[in-house]
Amino acid sequence: MENVIERIKAKSGFIIDMDGVIYHGNKLLPGITEFLRWLESSDKKFLFLTNSSERSPRELHEKLLRLGIDVGEEHFYTSALATAGFLASQKPNGSAFIIGDAGLIHALYSFGYTINNVNPDYVIVGDTHNYNFESIQTAVNLVLRGARLIGANPDVSGPVENGIAPSTKALIAPIEIATGKKAYFVGKPNPLMMRIALKRLMVSREEAIVIGDRMDTDVRCGLESEIDTLLVLSGITSREEVDNFPYRPQYILNGIIDLVQ
Ligand SMILES: [Mg+2]
Repeated sequence: MENVIERIKAKSGFIIDMDGVIYHGNKLLPGITEFLRWLESSDKKFLFLTNSSERSPRELHEKLLRLGIDVGEEHFYTSALATAGFLASQKPNGSAFIIGDAGLIHALYSFGYTINNVNPDYVIVGDTHNYNFESIQTAVNLVLRGARLIGANPDVSGPVENGIAPSTKALIAPIEIATGKKAYFVGKPNPLMMRIALKRLMVSREEAIVIGDRMDTDVRCGLESEIDTLLVLSGITSREEVDNFPYRPQYILNGIIDLVQ
């Protein structure tokens, strides 16, 4: 155990998932304050990489501030930003119909996109609490008329304080079924996310570690990018569930708290 902790702490770049790793809904998980202090005092590079597309880096900064920790905006990267960057490289200054929250809309605007519900280049779906039949119907018909279908992340669900909430892949499914078109998903485990993270941290994959609570996104993403992975059991995955997957993380700990005790 001690050996494991030391190997993890010897890494210089930390790519850290948020939901289920540092907080749960609106509750900071134990050990996070100490872990952040350790990252900073040890001159580690770190990036909070979230598949959630609801919030902008500034809003994430503010959310953590409300929870009692102060992390600069530059330490956040979201699937919304990755989606916007990807689409801007596919089709500069395009347009999109968006089913998603402010983080996604803001990211698209910041990359030169406009919102369009008549003849957009893309229909983009992200995590949202604003989900209704009318927007699904609009999305279905736009896709049938040629708009390309994009998911900000392929998460099926995410942890909330009183259970789980359906996430992008579950929300986009009705559009896929009604149109017969398959969406392209940008967030983890798309290796794009890991390439961007390594570039931002300016570390090699050998120097980095991915810390997350999901086998199908965090662990898989690290694995396929040949970056060491640490699964924490403080989120959506239990130790028993790990065996349901055909692959394993390098390390499994109960939570971030194990790294600072
Ligand atoms: Mg998570």
